[in-house]
Amino acid sequence: MLKDMISNPELMYRPSLEEGAVVDEMFNTLMEYNVPFKKAYEQTWESWGINRELRALFANKGWILERMKNHPLYNGNFQIVIPDAYMGRGIDYDSALQAMGEIMNHRRLKMCFRDINDSHELFIRSLENKIYSLINMRAGYIIPEKYIEPINALFESNGKRIRMHRGQSITKLLARYAECCPEITKWKVDKDCSFYDTQGNFHPRKKDMGWNGLSAIIGDSLNPINRTETMVISIHPVDYLLMSNGDKWRSCHAIGKFEVDKANAHNGCYMGGCLSYLQDACSVVVYYIPKAETNNPHPERLGKMKRMMVYLDKGKIIMSRLYPDGRDSKDTSNNDNMTNWMRKKIQEVVSELFDMPNEWDVKFGKEEVCEYITHEGVQYPDYMCFDDVSISIHKDLEGEKFAHKNLHIGRYPICPICGDFHKNEMQLVCPDCLNKYNIPW
Ligand SMILES: [Zn+2]
Repeated sequence: MLKDMISNPELMYRPSLEEGAVVDEMFNTLMEYNVPFKKAYEQTWESWGINRELRALFANKGWILERMKNHPLYNGNFQIVIPDAYMGRGIDYDSALQAMGEIMNHRRLKMCFRDINDSHELFIRSLENKIYSLINMRAGYIIPEKYIEPINALFESNGKRIRMHRGQSITKLLARYAECCPEITKWKVDKDCSFYDTQGNFHPRKKDMGWNGLSAIIGDSLNPINRTETMVISIHPVDYLLMSNGDKWRSCHAIGKFEVDKANAHNGCYMGGCLSYLQDACSVVVYYIPKAETNNPHPERLGKMKRMMVYLDKGKIIMSRLYPDGRDSKDTSNNDNMTNWMRKKIQEVVSELFDMPNEWDVKFGKEEVCEYITHEGVQYPDYMCFDDVSISIHKDLEGEKFAHKNLHIGRYPICPICGDFHKNEMQLVCPDCLNKYNIPW
């Protein structure tokens, strides 16, 4: 594949600068990735712009690369690969409680056509209250034995021939509730998730956030997952370009043109942001790949199971929102929480990279974290928009003057074709090249 590209030597600008070898290596891997992209669109992604981009990456992130190369888990491909990384989740009672509350509110306000003293209404209300309090008392996913009999007594005294058994879950009880109150299952709320693909075709998508959506949230939130996959800490250029191209998900930085074979390929509205992150001095892409791919020399070619942008300087680690899930638990003692696990692991790796003791203070939330951030560029600033953000500050920085030195996130993108800076968050290329070549990326 690579040979085809090199057969047209006029296209290749070979940097002869000090960073030449690294930039060459990055350039080759990018070009290799770029082949299907070019075949499909018969456009020339001239190398001049890309080289400026990669040199910016090297100039700004070279300080991270230098340290990464000495790490025992460095894979020789601008990545540190960590096997046996926790990718599960503990029980999220708050989300379950909120979903159950919404179900109860909706039914009582919109579906209760009976008198409040009607015996069926009273029965349904006590059943709802039982489910709510089981969640509220944090009793786990499986209903504790001592609560089974009172629930069965409630069914029995209302003439229902339904029985719950030992070892059954709250999901089962919810299904029983739906049997007794079938009108709730007709409650649908269509959330529009439609999108246009790169050919302009409309793909209608709807997500039901009525009974189906909310009951699924309750089941998922209460049912813990305990699994391990492989985590990658990367400054590979392709990882920035494909940061939002997940295995089953996309977000606003997604570049659909890299995935011409995939039905769900579509461009996000912040593609330019990938380059903003690629070019700055602190942004690192952290993501999960399947355990079976641990030894794959090119994890950047796999769809990302989960992805988080992390911003580093020597004594600070800012962790942004986890995609596609979002939430970060602010409870640092909760080891069932994936973001907590990631925070501890990233702290450990950064301590190793900079040969510091692994001792950090953590602050949460955008108000706290944004005090340490300045930014430029066209990236979607998750760290300012969502509270799922944290900063770890190394204990040695306590009382130091430079403790408050800001991390500067993002740069204005360099157009991959002409090499000029631009401010267009919607595209990778500048508006001039967009007009000239009519390339919608
Ligand atoms: Zn341009």
